Amino acid sequence: MQVVRTVEALRTARKELRGSVGFVPTMGALHKGHLSLIQRAKAENEHLIVSIFVNPTQFLQGEDLDAYPRKELADTTICLRAGVDILFMPSIDEMYERDELSIGAPAIRGYILEGEKRPGHFDGMLQIVMKLLNLSRATRAYFGKKDAQQLALVTQMVKNYFMDVEIVPCEIVRDERGLALSSRNSYLSEAGKTKALCLSKSLKEATRLIRQNELNVTTIKSSMHIVLQEAERVEYIAIVDQEFRPLSSIERGNTMILVAVWIEKTRLIDNLWL
Ligand code: AMP
Repeated sequence: MQVVRTVEALRTARKELRGSVGFVPTMGALHKGHLSLIQRAKAENEHLIVSIFVNPTQFLQGEDLDAYPRKELADTTICLRAGVDILFMPSIDEMYERDELSIGAPAIRGYILEGEKRPGHFDGMLQIVMKLLNLSRATRAYFGKKDAQQLALVTQMVKNYFMDVEIVPCEIVRDERGLALSSRNSYLSEAGKTKALCLSKSLKEATRLIRQNELNVTTIKSSMHIVLQEAERVEYIAIVDQEFRPLSSIERGNTMILVAVWIEKTRLIDNLWL
């Protein structure tokens, strides 16, 4: 495995790769969710590039940029064992200059739900993903459904900018109790982790109701609210179609249920695709 830290070194290493290239962009503190993307990319491509970069432009003022977990050594070992060909871990200066042109998230889909609560987050996310896709020149890039809106916006960017890469959506990986894995779970105490189960429990409650043929969105949301009472604060429960338009009634095969809550001082998201 080549560990590269500069754009120039990445370009040089990339030139050596012939055939298909899978790419997994991450912010590090790798867990089994990241690993599932890495393993899938490994299986579906001849070569594999992983990036680890805590991207400052997608953090808002007052968010956890400085506190975000950094585990370079452990992450490097995970990538080595997973058969990664190139691990790209650049510095901020390597990725950005002072006065850059920017990419704006779409006016509606980029500014609802996560985009409403974290205005500007998706602009920064798209900016770094564009840079990383251009550098990796990947055949396929792998993104988790855990960040459903991110996945949708990256897919849209690739479409709108006619970029030559396939975006591959990957299933959410959870721990044995149902908590969706996230690098931010490390902020939680044990009690917090137990409380955080309310996210997946609320989605299970929605599934249960839908199985009983309860398709009314207002009814489903109220039941989910009761389960989410364990959280310090519920930021949103959204039931939308795949274009992120709010639904009044569940449409099987075209519905996402998304939740965002605060547990202790940590903001957590989860979702379910029906
Ligand atoms: P991050 O390091 O949080 O930026 O995540 C890097 C990639 O891993 C993104 O595409 C995420 O959606 C994905 N990811 C994070 N957590 C999970 C999970 N629990 N299951 C599946 N994918 C995940």
